[in-house]
Amino acid sequence: MTSPGHVVVVGAGLAGLRTIEDLRGRGYAGPVTLVGAEPRLPYDRPPLSKKLMTGALDDTTLRPDLDSLQVEVRLAERAVALADGVLATDGGEHAFDALVLATGATPVTLPGDGRQHVLRTIEDALELRGLLRSGAALAIVGAGWIGAELATAAAELGCQVTVLEAARTPLAAAVGAEVGGLTARWYTAAGVDLRLGQGVDSVQPGGLALAGGGWLPADVVVTAVGVRPAVSWLAGSAVALDNGVAVRLSAADLGGRGVRRGRLRGIRVGAVRPPAPVRALGRRAARPEVVAANVLAAARPTTGAVLLVGAVRPDGAVRRPPRGRPAAGVAGRPEGVRWAAAWLAAGGWSRC
Ligand SMILES: Cc1cc2nc3c(=O)[nH]c(=O)nc-3n(C[C@H](O)[C@H](O)[C@H](O)COP(=O)(O)OP(=O)(O)OC[C@H]3O[C@@H](n4cnc5c(N)ncnc54)[C@H](O)[C@@H]3O)c2cc1C
Repeated sequence: MTSPGHVVVVGAGLAGLRTIEDLRGRGYAGPVTLVGAEPRLPYDRPPLSKKLMTGALDDTTLRPDLDSLQVEVRLAERAVALADGVLATDGGEHAFDALVLATGATPVTLPGDGRQHVLRTIEDALELRGLLRSGAALAIVGAGWIGAELATAAAELGCQVTVLEAARTPLAAAVGAEVGGLTARWYTAAGVDLRLGQGVDSVQPGGLALAGGGWLPADVVVTAVGVRPAVSWLAGSAVALDNGVAVRLSAADLGGRGVRRGRLRGIRVGAVRPPAPVRALGRRAARPEVVAANVLAAARPTTGAVLLVGAVRPDGAVRRPPRGRPAAGVAGRPEGVRWAAAWLAAGGWSRC
């Protein structure tokens, strides 16, 4: 087998870990280094706004078998720059032959001097959980997935929850107005005050300054208005950025089987957003197994190849439908709280 030499994976999240597991599964036996900014081993984020928030879970660490993976793990070490064949971190430098970028995303925050929480890391979640006492006034900015999950979990814990959403329909940008509108019932059923069409200007001590001049007092404010690809550390490097890493790919680049041979530059999904023409290919192209295959297929000892990988769920299930696609159908009773919507996607069905 062709060996890419030293593989460095930056970003110790699910995508980074799965890529390493897949590399080993494909028989790659060379050195691998995993560099992660967080002081923890990779963990699962979806339960943070669900079971961990309600106290049903305290830890979601993935517990990889690092001994058999034979990975040099560098935790609490942040990548700060990329030069030709060398990754610079705040802890030193790592020469690489193939670099996998799996740095995920960081939450967007709002202007203002008030304390605003975000929900991205396990530390964020544990701190927030400690504040969600019965009777606490919780204001959540953003009625997206995380806003919805947190709102219902906090209401279950006895908080007085208000959710402010600038759009007229929750989740419209993600799942379309038809299905997004159905999610408003989740809030009602949970006793959450959902205010649609209400923007927020800033977070101030004691509450929120609302667009249009209003004020909402709050004990705890959570900003859940989305994430940005965590790629600012690549500024000034040879990697082109465009709201994420700019990737030039065509269907032919993927070799028909999702594995490009030859002039590979980068592939991504999840958090490191490619430009629009690439997005349709993104979900498949950035799966860890595809990236791992590309590491091996594109490898020559001195290529200095840079590859990008984003998130898939551990079980491979697609929970989030492609943006902007119309719902192909809703199953169950949409007037209740449990139902499913399906979207038609290239190659099969995505399920919500
Ligand atoms: C609360 C919550 C609930 C979610 N629920 C769902 C769900 O139900 N379904 C679903 O499909 N998805 C869900 N997601 C999204 C899913 O968890 C993400 O898509 C997934 O975490 C992305 O994985 P990743 O490995 O690409 O990136 P990340 O999980 O973001 O991991 C990237 C890692 O890279 C590290 N890093 C960043 N910059 C650097 C640097 N410069 N140097 C070194 N390391 C760096 C970060 O610290 C992080 O540990 C949820 C996310 C959250 C936060």
